[in-house]
Amino acid sequence: MSDDNTHSHPHKEVQHERSPYASHVRAMEALLVEKGVLTEPEIQDRIAYMESRSPANGAMLVARAWTDPKFKQRLLSDAKSAARELGLDPTHEAELIVVENTPEVHNLIVCTLCSCYPRAVLGRPPDWYKSFEYRSRAVREPRAVMREFGFEPPEGVEVAVYDSTADVRYMVLPMRPPGTEGMDEEDLAALVTRDALIGVSVPRPTAPAS
Ligand code: FE
Repeated sequence: MSDDNTHSHPHKEVQHERSPYASHVRAMEALLVEKGVLTEPEIQDRIAYMESRSPANGAMLVARAWTDPKFKQRLLSDAKSAARELGLDPTHEAELIVVENTPEVHNLIVCTLCSCYPRAVLGRPPDWYKSFEYRSRAVREPRAVMREFGFEPPEGVEVAVYDSTADVRYMVLPMRPPGTEGMDEEDLAALVTRDALIGVSVPRPTAPAS
């Protein structure tokens, strides 16, 4: 369940050249520019925006929620407007719902149908998230899946699986690790991994070595 980056040939470039989708997109893009619907700088801006989104955005929301109980309430009741408060742009037609882990319930997100993912706050999904294996097993045997990520909620904790759709995207609000009371928001955000925001894992207990 990891990205296959072990081979060294220029895989991406080859795919780029051959993909019929890429050719269609380029042809469409050229037409839209020619007709004056879009300009080249607008396209570049949009690409920059899409590339700028990453799990760091989700981690920032979590760190603020851990340190500001009122913000946490807003994040849980209206995630998009809470994200805008922190300068994020969660523009997407789909609803964004943040689900909170508690000592009683651990949440896990999946899209059983395809690969719906809260890109506005997490960027692009990892390859394993889109795999048939994850999509089917996350629902059937979520604890076994989490074990493979090196984590399993304690016995007695309920596992709630949220199935994303075209209409609703989910992000997990993990529990703040014990022993982090003195940490500031920035250090707290560094504990929050992408996998913890999906729910296959939990935040690091201490800052990563740098
Ligand atoms: Fe999907």
